[in-house]
Amino acid sequence: MMKIELTKGDITKIKSDAIVNAANSSLLGGGGVDGAIHRAGGSEILEECRQIRNRQGKCKTGEAVVTTAGNLSAKYVIHTVGPVWNNDEEKESQLLANCYRNSLKLAESLEVKTIAFPNISTGVYRFPKELAAKIAIQEVKNFESEVIEKVIFVCFDEENEELYKKLLERD
Ligand code: ADP
Repeated sequence: MMKIELTKGDITKIKSDAIVNAANSSLLGGGGVDGAIHRAGGSEILEECRQIRNRQGKCKTGEAVVTTAGNLSAKYVIHTVGPVWNNDEEKESQLLANCYRNSLKLAESLEVKTIAFPNISTGVYRFPKELAAKIAIQEVKNFESEVIEKVIFVCFDEENEELYKKLLERD
């Protein structure tokens, strides 16, 4: 079973084979964690994102693609596009679950041992934090892997950290 770790801070500073980016469908960068990853990782990441776009077009919500991690200590950045919260709980929950599942699948195919996730969609995309945390934890717990040893949830704000702590202690 994969070990789950919880930490608070900046995901660009985390030691992990892969870090996940809450990207937008353009893959061309944005604010929040996306901006932080591109700033810290350098232009190589954006260049690879451009190549992916030229090859396959935009990244659909719930899907994931991989690039180098540039100047970061990670080997890979996995870019996944979270849903924008528009009060369609069933549909948007499914899409957020897909983000975690598809990122884990991609990490496994890359033979990654550790993967770090930010709290996808809980920033400018306004997904309710508690529901997002429940979905994230459920998807990670349901994912069976022979390859991935550890999943790190990296919370940037105290509210998310408290929610994850509570939910992870419960079960
Ligand atoms: P989204 O568009 O998916 O909502 P955001 O980047 O706006 O993406 O927010 C996603 C989450 O990432 C939020 O909880 C936000 O607090 C967090 N975040 C922002 N900067 C960082 C960072 N440097 N490291 C980790 N998490 C971050």
